[in-house]
Amino acid sequence: MDEKEREKGFNDYQTILDGLKVSFLEKWKSKKQESAKLDDFDRFRTLGTGAFGRVVLVKYKPSSTYYAMKILEKGKLVRMKQIEHTSNEKRVLQSLKFPFVVYMEFFFKDNSYVYMVLPFINGGEMFSHLRNMGKFTEPLSRFYAAQVALALEYLHHCGLVYRDLKPENILIDKNGYLKVTDFGFCKLVDGRTWTLCGTPEYLAPEVILSKGYGKSVDWWSFGVLIFEMNAGFPPFYAHDPMKIYEKIVAGKYKHVSHFGEDLRDILKNLLQVDLTKRYGNLKDGPMDIKKHRWFRTTDWILMYYQKVEPTFVPKCTGPSDTSNFDHYEEEQLTLDTIDRYAKEFIDF
Ligand code: ATP
Ligand code: MG
Repeated sequence: MDEKEREKGFNDYQTILDGLKVSFLEKWKSKKQESAKLDDFDRFRTLGTGAFGRVVLVKYKPSSTYYAMKILEKGKLVRMKQIEHTSNEKRVLQSLKFPFVVYMEFFFKDNSYVYMVLPFINGGEMFSHLRNMGKFTEPLSRFYAAQVALALEYLHHCGLVYRDLKPENILIDKNGYLKVTDFGFCKLVDGRTWTLCGTPEYLAPEVILSKGYGKSVDWWSFGVLIFEMNAGFPPFYAHDPMKIYEKIVAGKYKHVSHFGEDLRDILKNLLQVDLTKRYGNLKDGPMDIKKHRWFRTTDWILMYYQKVEPTFVPKCTGPSDTSNFDHYEEEQLTLDTIDRYAKEFIDF
C-alpha cells in the first residue's frame, strides 16, 4: 500500500468512527427496559471471578444460545461502594458496539443481585494463552495490539476512558480475534478535560497533573500490554507492590534482548512518564501509534473488518465449550425475600 492509499484509509476510518460515536451516544441517552429474568437461563459453570462477583456460562432458554452472565451481589457492591461503578458499567455496556469490545445482550436485577448478560467469548482470556505460550511472537503481539489500539481509539472517541486494560480482561474469540471485556472502571469523561494540546494557556495544572484519570492512562497500559505480550512478563515488576510503583513512577524498565528497534521505540513512547510526550496523548491522538513503524505492516481497515488471518486460533469444540477457562469454586445464588437495596440500584 502506498502513502496516499494509507492516508485515504485513515480518513475513511475517521468517518466510520464518527458514525460509531453517534450510535454510541444515542444508546447512551436512551434508557433500556429490563429484557430478561433469571428463570430464562440455565446456569452452568463459573468462567471467571473478579473483585465483586462472578461470570457464569448460561443458556438463554428461548433461543438456546449460550452467554456469559456477570452476577454481582448488591450487598457487596453497597459495602464496597461500587453502586455507581456498576450502574455505569451497565450503561456503558448497553451503549457499545465495536468489533473488539463485548456488548450486553440482556440485563436485569432481583432482590439480591444485578445481572449483565454478554455474548460468551469462548477462546478464554489472553492471560491464559500468554502464560501457556510463555510469550507471543512479535507478529501475534502486533495483531493483538492493533485490535486493542482500535478498541481504545473507539472508546476514547466516544468519550470513555477504559482504565482497566490487562490480559485478564481481554478475551479471544473462537476465530482468534479479541474482545475487551470488564467495563467496571470505564467512565465517560468530559472531552475538554483532555485536550492537552488544544489551548495550553488555559489548562489548569491539576488537569495536566491528574495522572490517574485521563485517556493517557489507557495508552500507558497499552504500552505495558505490548511489552508483556512480547516478553512474557511485564516491564515493571517486583514482589513488593511499593517497589513496582517506584519503578513505574521512575519509568525505568529493561528491554528484552530480542526486542527489535521498532518495538523498543513504540514502547519508549508509550511507557513515557511525561504526559506531554506520551503517544496517544499528543495532538494527533492515536494516529501517532497507528502510524508508528512497528505497525508499518498493519492494514487498519482490514483489521477493523476482521479480514486479517490470525496466526493463532484457540481450540473450541462448540458454543458451550469452556475448556479454555480455569476452574473456580462454585457458589449457590441465595435470593433474599426482600429487596434491601432497591433505592441504591434504581439506576441499574
Ligand atoms: P475485576 O476484578 O477484574 O474487576 P470483574 O469482577 O469486573 O473483575 P470481569 O473482569 O468482567 O469481572 O469478569 C471476570 C472474568 O470472567 C474475566 O476475566 C473473564 O475470564 C470472564 N469473562 C468475563 N466476560 C466474559 C465473556 N463475555 N465471555 C467469557 N468469559 C468472560
Ligand atoms: Mg476483570
